[in-house]
Amino acid sequence: MNDYDIAIIGGGLVGASLAVALAASPLRVVLVEAAEPPPSAPARARMNPGPVSSVGTSPAAPPASTSLRSGPVSGPPWDERCIALNDASRRIFGGYGVWEAMRAEAAPIVATHISERGRFGTARFAAAEAGLEALGYNVPLRAIGAVLSTRMAQLPNLTLLQPARLSAMRTGEQSVELDIDAAGGSRTLAARLVVAADGARSAVRDLLGIAAERREYAQHAIVSSVRLSRPHQGVAYERFTPDGPIALIPKPDDAASLVWTVPDEQVEARMALDDAAYLAQAQDCFGGRLGRFVELGRRWSHPLARVLSGSLTAPRTVFIGNAAQSLHPVAAQGFNLGLRDVASLAVEIAGAQDPGAAATLAAYAARREQDRGRVSDFTDLMVRAFSNRVPFLAQARHWGLVAVELAPPLRGAVLRQHLGHLGLPRAS
Ligand SMILES: Cc1cc2nc3c(=O)[nH]c(=O)nc-3n(C[C@H](O)[C@H](O)[C@H](O)COP(=O)(O)OP(=O)(O)OC[C@H]3O[C@@H](n4cnc5c(N)ncnc54)[C@H](O)[C@@H]3O)c2cc1C
Repeated sequence: MNDYDIAIIGGGLVGASLAVALAASPLRVVLVEAAEPPPSAPARARMNPGPVSSVGTSPAAPPASTSLRSGPVSGPPWDERCIALNDASRRIFGGYGVWEAMRAEAAPIVATHISERGRFGTARFAAAEAGLEALGYNVPLRAIGAVLSTRMAQLPNLTLLQPARLSAMRTGEQSVELDIDAAGGSRTLAARLVVAADGARSAVRDLLGIAAERREYAQHAIVSSVRLSRPHQGVAYERFTPDGPIALIPKPDDAASLVWTVPDEQVEARMALDDAAYLAQAQDCFGGRLGRFVELGRRWSHPLARVLSGSLTAPRTVFIGNAAQSLHPVAAQGFNLGLRDVASLAVEIAGAQDPGAAATLAAYAARREQDRGRVSDFTDLMVRAFSNRVPFLAQARHWGLVAVELAPPLRGAVLRQHLGHLGLPRAS
């Protein structure tokens, strides 16, 4: 009973997406998630006599964490925390049969507008030029989590252990033994493949002694929602300033997600401002393009760093999502990249005799290498090139934006990257 083909450690958005991706497979899957399930989650206990049920959104999660799993405990829908899914993610979720349920609550992003504060030069992209209805969709985290949870509760091949935490692992030739701590006591499982989806501070990585490369940006992102006096018309804005980017991503009802990146030394003071003062400062930074910011929702702050796992695989173990790479949120790439990890791994596993065989893992790593390198280098370059006051770079940035706006080949390359199409796996 305690033997599985696949053990997924971590049931954030990425781990839960993998469980759903494996729905059609005959493999026995266990998902281990440390956080308590939200009270509204569909109940379904298999092994764990404790409160084992769904995964994905934990409403009571503390604000100052790098995890984006939580949503507001309560409050108006316009204030919900969202994640911008690109077109590749829409397609992947569509293939798993869960997109339509998410779409009901998604705000389409029909165009993007990239600019730099205080300088001329913009780069603009429209869905129509890619032949799409939308470049992407801004979807409440709660909705993504709820749809994944509901789907997982229907899967006969899946066992959910939640709340339960991986505490030790021993790798053998044919399988890995995992010690799991849960409310009812500890237990040991065995799996042919361990999938580490346990976030930027991956316990699996630590237990295996795999190093991670960490780059501190000395910035925090303050995430909130705003109500606008003027319709956003589905346009997402990314505006660079020397202190970091400020982004407005459309939500329904003339509201928008506001992601404001500020230097570490300013975050405490900004978080302490009352709503009116915060809105005034954010407005000053963003400008008047969308009229006035008339109402502010709850604020969360996230310290920003790039964390790259030193390896994507270890014997009978693979890393996906933030456990593999955690990125700066500029250009909203992190989860989109993690979902392409999921899609690639699902394709490799589907074609393998043994999901944990060295050849399967090597093929996965080879599939992910390019996409991972390209997206993590691109986001890092954006942060470092724009978050400074060096005069030479200011000129380079200006001409860079002009070139992206006017030069068709460069434009096409940036657009494909933005849509996530370059990293979509082809079935083998
Ligand atoms: C401000 C901000 C805005 C962002 N906006 C976007 C966006 O618009 N679009 C986008 O694509 N990306 C965005 N991202 C990135 C995105 O949020 C992350 O890439 C994504 O949430 C990572 O999901 P994950 O499941 O890999 O990791 P996590 O969400 O960190 O989940 C890891 C899970 O593992 C569990 N866990 C940890 N240790 C153990 C253990 N020992 N045993 C069991 N379970 C364990 C944790 O409880 C957690 O649930 C943003 C990030 C930030 C900071």
